[in-house]
Formats: sequence, structure tokens, C-alpha cells
Amino acid sequence: MGASMRGTSRERTGAGWIMALTTEQVLARLASVMSADGRIALVETGRLSDIVITDGRVMLSIAIEAGEAARWEPVRAAAEAAIKGLPGVLGALVSLTAERAADATPARPGASAAASAASAGRPEVYPNLAKVRHVIAVASGKGGVGKSTTACNLALALTMLSGPAGRLKVGVLDADIYGPSMPKLFALKGQPRITSGRTLAPLEGYGCKVMSIGFLVDLSKAMIWRGPMVASAITQMLRDVEWGELDVLVVDMPPGTGDAQLTLAQQAPLAGAVIVSTPQDLALIDARRGVAMFKDVDVPILGLIENMSYFVCDECGKRHHIFAHGGAREESGRLAIPFLGEIPLELEIRERSDAGLPVVVTAPESTAAEAYRRIAAEVWAALDNRRK
Ligand code: ADP
Repeated sequence: MGASMRGTSRERTGAGWIMALTTEQVLARLASVMSADGRIALVETGRLSDIVITDGRVMLSIAIEAGEAARWEPVRAAAEAAIKGLPGVLGALVSLTAERAADATPARPGASAAASAASAGRPEVYPNLAKVRHVIAVASGKGGVGKSTTACNLALALTMLSGPAGRLKVGVLDADIYGPSMPKLFALKGQPRITSGRTLAPLEGYGCKVMSIGFLVDLSKAMIWRGPMVASAITQMLRDVEWGELDVLVVDMPPGTGDAQLTLAQQAPLAGAVIVSTPQDLALIDARRGVAMFKDVDVPILGLIENMSYFVCDECGKRHHIFAHGGAREESGRLAIPFLGEIPLELEIRERSDAGLPVVVTAPESTAAEAYRRIAAEVWAALDNRRK
């Protein structure tokens, strides 16, 4: 606690000095924060997650029961303010995490204030999403199936469509915090600007607003993320980013269907989910898990996309089905969810993605770009229908 006398309220972004910050210092600093009942200190409740410290940024979460969020919000805010006052802290993120849904909730389980408010309309605890019409998730049962590449091109293809007020306004939230790829896919680097208080302005690439944990932490350093931490980091990006007015916010989910993904599916006010799969059986089994996860938390499935579906030979122009093709279409039929389309396996997709030149924008005449545009139109039609 001795270290608590300097800089009591403000983040010091860009400060030239960073002290080695320890978990003990953070815990000591939190000792004065009381729990919601006001009787014992927060640190003694057993509700704190591990504390993650990277580059002067501190993240932790407080486990609560569904329905307790309103009572615990002042505690969360006090804990965050306390940590921010610690010398050497450049930013702090404290989140409330409810791991399990409440028993007697409506179809959409109220795992947190965000989730329960989401089921009632706009989430009160995410005022920055007030002007975002639809939040959709792009998910996959496992990594490496092209989920992020699809999310990026889908978002950009959506910006090319017209809505009620002209071209659609679109944002991408890179929630794949194990391997954030949006900085590379959009060729963006740099730190988001802090606008007012603790609100961050998203960066902008090809006319799309982009926020990624990759802008906030050093990607060359390995990070160990635990379930609640994943949810915390993502919640911050939903809560503290000035998204402004958007027609669609595309959330690139972390791959897989573990607790972290489930929490996110419960907490984010999702209008629907798109599942990306490759044609192989194994990926489809994983995709089925993804579908089941969203169904469990009552998020509508907008459809399944088959990525790396077929390969068009440069020389003979024929389609080659490298993996057993058509599996996703059949699987959609079995699961009674829409099939959104096939994206070819194209070297150009990989090369352009790696170079931060998404095909939808930089090779609009390609088969792949056309496939992404068709899928975007289907997704928008589904969202617009729901709205109506
Ligand atoms: P995920 O988000 O599922 O882990 P990525 O989007 O990062 O997957 O894609 C994994 C790799 O596959 C990347 O190198 C990407 O460029 C490549 N890739 C994705 N989709 C295609 C495709 N349709 N054709 C060729 N390469 C692709």
C-alpha cells in the first residue's frame, strides 16, 4: 500500500516510465476495496480471478452470480480506479464475470447484467453499443479454419451493401485474443486513441472500424489467458470502445467452444452467429459443437459457411475438391440452419490476407470476393428480416 500515494486517478498512457508491476502490489492496492455487502474486503471474497499484468496493463475479473451485477458494479469500478492509481499502471480492466446462467431466466440466460439487459433490448452496461444495430459473432469449432479471414472479408463486404441510410457502417471486434489477426488482416498498427475518460476510439481500415487486443498488448510476448480473463478483455472491448453508429459489429470469436466462448456468447448482445467450417468431417464435428453452444444460449444461428471449399486450378480452370466437398451444406440441412455459401481455397486469399490486402477490397473481381459478397448479402438480409 505504500506505493499508493502518487497519481491517484489517471491512466498514464505513453508515459516514458514503466515500473515492474507485481501481482502483490495490485492485491495490496485492492485491500481497501470492500465487497458488495460492505463487510469484507474484495480480496477476501475468493471471487477474484488470477491477475494478468502485461506492459503496465492490469486485468482481472470478479466472479459473481447472475443477477448480482448491479450490486457489484460499484465494487468493480472502485477496484479499477484503485488499480489505475498505482504507479506504473498504464491501464486497468476489471470485469464482472458470471460463469453460469441464472436458473429461472427467459430463453436467453441472464449470465450477467449485460446478458439480461441484452435479452430485454439494449444492454445498459454497454452504452457504447447503444447505436450499434446488430452485433454478430463469427465463430468456429476449432482454430485454423479461416474464421478471421472470413470475418474480415465479411465485414468489408457488408460495408459495400446499402442499408436504410446508405452504405452500411460496419465494425470488427477482434475477440480472438489467443491469436488476434485483425491488425495484420487490415494492415493496422498503433494504439487506439483514448477519447474521453477511459473510452478508446477504434482504428479504421478500408472504411471499417476495427478494435483488437492486438492494438493493446505486445503480440510478440506470450500471454496466458484463463477463461474469465478472456471474457474480461472482450467485455472491455465491447464496453469501453467508442463504436459510434454502426449497422453491424462483427465479432471475431476465439476459436473453439470452451467456457470462455460460452461466457462471451452469453455476455455479448448477439443478434446471431455465423459458423465457419472447412469441409473435412472433423471440422464439421467441431462446427456442430459451435452450433450447439449458440443454441444453448439462445443466440440465433445465421448460417454455416464452408471455407476452403474447393480449389480452382489456374491452369485448367476446373474446380478441384481437395477435401470432401459439400459437407457443410449437408450438415446445415441436418441441423436445420441456413447454408450461407462456399469460399474457395485460393492462394490469393492467403497471400493478400497476409499482406493486409483483403480480397474483397483489393481483388473485387475474384471468385472469392464474389463469394464473400454473396454471403454478406445473405447475412444482412437475415439481420434486416429479424429487425423488421
Ligand atoms: P482462424 O481464424 O480460423 O484461425 P485464419 O483466418 O487465421 O483462421 O486462417 C488460417 C490461414 O488460412 C491463414 O493463413 C489464411 O490466410 C488462410 N486461409 C483462410 N481462408 C483461406 C482460403 N479460403 N483460401 C486460402 N487460404 C485461406
